Amino acid sequence: MEELKARIRRDGKIKSGNVLKVDSFLNHQMDVNLFTEIGQEFKRRFAGEEINKILTIEASGIGIACITAQSFGVPVVFAKKTQTKNIAGEVYTTQVESFTHGRVYDIIVSKEFLGKGDKVLLIDDFLANGKALEGLACLVRDSGAELVGAGIVIEKGFQPGGDMLRARGIRVESLAVIDRMDEVTGTIVFRGEA
Ligand code: 5GP
Repeated sequence: MEELKARIRRDGKIKSGNVLKVDSFLNHQMDVNLFTEIGQEFKRRFAGEEINKILTIEASGIGIACITAQSFGVPVVFAKKTQTKNIAGEVYTTQVESFTHGRVYDIIVSKEFLGKGDKVLLIDDFLANGKALEGLACLVRDSGAELVGAGIVIEKGFQPGGDMLRARGIRVESLAVIDRMDEVTGTIVFRGEA
């Protein structure tokens, strides 16, 4: 998606630890016109698939998931991060290791909002080591719902998440895949470029 790549190149800030900051249009201030384009592109890529629910993870996936859901005409459920231990029973839960914060937390989804008969598209802003998507896929599996695939805005292709999930048979559609980025020069090379 050329518009997205141009925006990343113009406004993205490369930080240490292989972190790309896109706070001016995706993760803090949100460009909802760009989000609409992104949602429509996900709809094009998953055209023909039966999808009746979008699942994301709080907090940074929620905005993009909501606008994408308008293209699909389906509800969004977001997995909540929690430290409450006493939650057995009414929720599906698993553990996720955070890429940006480096710690492990529990995520939960109420059994009320995910279950057998649901055909689920996962949406998230970034794909790095794949832990967030892996956790969401685990909740889908535990609920008896069907996982249709995952839509990602920015995949860091030099990190292992994308390959790992695709090797497991999960369809992952990323709108911009970064093959290399250099903190010192500020250079970003997208997949398909020299
Ligand atoms: P993963 O679980 O694939 O290792 O990391 C994905 C999650 O970590 C995303 O939900 C995203 O919030 C966060 N993340 C990973 N890499 C980056 C990055 O380079 N920049 C930002 N802003 N978030 C990232």
